[in-house]
Amino acid sequence: MTNYKLGLDFAKQLDDQDQLSDFRQQFHIPKDKNGKDLIYFCGNSLGLQPKITKTYIDQELQDWANLGVEGHTEGKNPWLHYHEFLTDTMANIVGAKPIEVVVMNSLTANLHFMMVSFYQPTPKRYKILIEGDAFPSDKYAVESQLRHHGYDDKDGLILWKARKGEELANYDDLETILNEHGDEIALVMIGGVNYYTGQFFDLKRITDLGHKHGCVVGFDCAHGAGNVQLNLNDSGADFAVWCTYKYLNSGPGSLSGAFVHERHANNKDLNRFTGWWSHNKKTRFRMRDEFDQLPGAEGWQLSNPPILSMAAIRASLDVIKEAGFDKLCEKSKLLTGYFEFLINQLNNKDIKIITPSDPNQRGCQLSIQVKNADKSLYDKLTNAGVITDWREPDVIRCAPIPLYNSFQDVYNMVERLKQLL
Ligand SMILES: *Cc1c(COP(=O)(O)O)cnc(C)c1O
Repeated sequence: MTNYKLGLDFAKQLDDQDQLSDFRQQFHIPKDKNGKDLIYFCGNSLGLQPKITKTYIDQELQDWANLGVEGHTEGKNPWLHYHEFLTDTMANIVGAKPIEVVVMNSLTANLHFMMVSFYQPTPKRYKILIEGDAFPSDKYAVESQLRHHGYDDKDGLILWKARKGEELANYDDLETILNEHGDEIALVMIGGVNYYTGQFFDLKRITDLGHKHGCVVGFDCAHGAGNVQLNLNDSGADFAVWCTYKYLNSGPGSLSGAFVHERHANNKDLNRFTGWWSHNKKTRFRMRDEFDQLPGAEGWQLSNPPILSMAAIRASLDVIKEAGFDKLCEKSKLLTGYFEFLINQLNNKDIKIITPSDPNQRGCQLSIQVKNADKSLYDKLTNAGVITDWREPDVIRCAPIPLYNSFQDVYNMVERLKQLL
């Protein structure tokens, strides 16, 4: 794709040409004991803190201090509508229409709430298909849904596994599973970008396949949101969920996003759990009205949301908006392509990248498989000031983030890796 070159000068040249390089200054970069910036490649696990986050949270603390309950209506950013301040930017990032998106709850909770509506098993069609190496929380969640509806969680769970000796899931196998078992499967629920391999699935292809067999299709986009162009509306998926503390830099344990396709926006027949925040905004505070379902994704809300956490999301989304998500994705491809080039140049038999080499089938993360599952390499990297993460059984996940990582970060990381190998 690009003609990458070896050497520090080339990294510097790429940084000089990078129109987004200044955004790094807008983040707190963790430091080592000597006060030097760590090489932080863990934004896929917990994104770094934008410097403006504190200002956004302080504003709400101040309104709370000065106004008390009146902050709901009289605050600078009235809390009553606060979640709406996030919607447009969030919808843009995940490729959805505003009516399809809401920020609420935590991720696994949202996955369950979506399944309350979109997993409607019948005695003939009750199984759930997930990818073989799904994130544990997702697997536990769908297993518990099966049990909740009275089904056996072993019999009811179908895994789309990579072939023996391979790491990546193969679409032919998905087709085979659906051809053989499609009429037993109620729900296809896939991680949009696999947390372990970094494989970015073709959401539209999977959705079309699932729908062709009469299955409902949903995605957990925890590793996709803020990392790749998800185009959720165009994918046709029934629902999606994601967290905001990974690529969306909103702080530990922050709220989740949810997407419900517009074709379900006004469907009042869908089963769902409701609360006062699912009720018509105009009459919510009359309190004694019969329940009146709010249309769109907002209709899945239950509670009045935690404003301090939302303020952090708002701060982070404003930074992303300023950079431009399209531009971030462009830089991401260049940055990760460069990273891949340098790793491949090491030509070392003890490590192997298992993430797809096709830039359209991955985000920024590269998963480096280590021979003999030698975790000491990861430990040494950490000691050398490179923050990555180790995922059992044998992978170091590294995510250069276009908002705050530089080409020189990538260069320096690979130099340190080279010394350790
Ligand atoms: C990070 C992640 C989670 C974490 O779930 P929480 O409910 O936010 O703790 C779940 N699923 C996937 C796929 C993830 O990547």
